[in-house]
Amino acid sequence: MSAERAIPGLVWVPDAPCRDDPDLFTSRGSASRAKAKAVCRTCPYQQLCLRAALAMGDQHAVMGGTDPDDRRRMRAAAVSRRQDRRTA
Ligand code: SF4
Repeated sequence: MSAERAIPGLVWVPDAPCRDDPDLFTSRGSASRAKAKAVCRTCPYQQLCLRAALAMGDQHAVMGGTDPDDRRRMRAAAVSRRQDRRTA
């Protein structure tokens, strides 16, 4: 991964805190993911990055303070809420 962090489809973010250790954000271990999420919590782009990760369906990296499993749960919850509204 590049030494700079891209938010794909949106903006290039050369000052994002993840640039200091980009490999951490694609690590699969739970301890590494927790560390990456902690870095995201300090990032001014967190909400933008989360929206980008959800929009592009990223399945590999911690982005916007979430890992791919978190985002799968978020998408499933959103689908469930939409279905509930349709049947209400
Ligand atoms: S929210 Fe996390 S992954 Fe996204 S730009 Fe910021 S530090 Fe990087």
